Amino acid sequence: MTRLPIIIANWKTNKQLSDVYAFLEALTGHLPSRQIVQVGIAAQDIYLHEMVRYLNEYHETVDIIAENVHWADNGSYTGETSPAALADIGVKGSIIGHYERRKMFKETNGTVGLKVVASLRNRLMPVIAIAEDTTRYNPNDVDMAPLSEIAISLAGVTREQAGNIVIAYEPAWAIGAAEAPSLKEIEHAARVIRKSLAILFSDAIAQQIRIQYGGSVTPDNARAILGLSNIDGLLIGRAALSAETFITMTQDA
Ligand code: PGA
Repeated sequence: MTRLPIIIANWKTNKQLSDVYAFLEALTGHLPSRQIVQVGIAAQDIYLHEMVRYLNEYHETVDIIAENVHWADNGSYTGETSPAALADIGVKGSIIGHYERRKMFKETNGTVGLKVVASLRNRLMPVIAIAEDTTRYNPNDVDMAPLSEIAISLAGVTREQAGNIVIAYEPAWAIGAAEAPSLKEIEHAARVIRKSLAILFSDAIAQQIRIQYGGSVTPDNARAILGLSNIDGLLIGRAALSAETFITMTQDA
């Protein structure tokens, strides 16, 4: 089974509009084709519509991704962005349950699950971040955490929908850190995640679902991580703030 690699820049709350234009302009004409890798940029909601418009005009091979999404299509939810609104402006998907949201905004596996279902209902691709809630590496957590996080977060996903989800394995202790886990640790965690997906859905469906790695990815480790057999992409924070560095890493796919 060949899975199309997916590499997403996670800008978080960095960048202002002039930086956004400069980044998109620098990408133009420099990315590998969509047959080789799916490239996405996750940015603050306020920029998404303009990014979609700009890329439609100049460079259509980048998907624009939200950093978060609400679970209701419309209604009285002051301050939230609905999946229906994101889909309406041409956004491709949303990161859901990033560790920073779980930690600072009290998101739970339950709310992540609601957002996943709402995204799929609106034809948005959910990029579901699975993090071990620990500040220090403990190999046992790699076995345990993904299983419970995945089971609750994916409880409302049907077998027909499952092929459209993306899992981003991001150990909390490796986000914004000095270094990523070893290749062995990443592959082990990804294998555990794929096994849990097989239990939830089926072996065949688990083989279709793409699993990204995120947390201290750099141009120095990107290629080796992408080479792991159960890893199908990257979710990149700091190293994706520079267009040149991001382009280099997309070319590793
Ligand atoms: P980092 O962030 O690459 O800067 O560690 C990754 C993330 O938070 O998605």
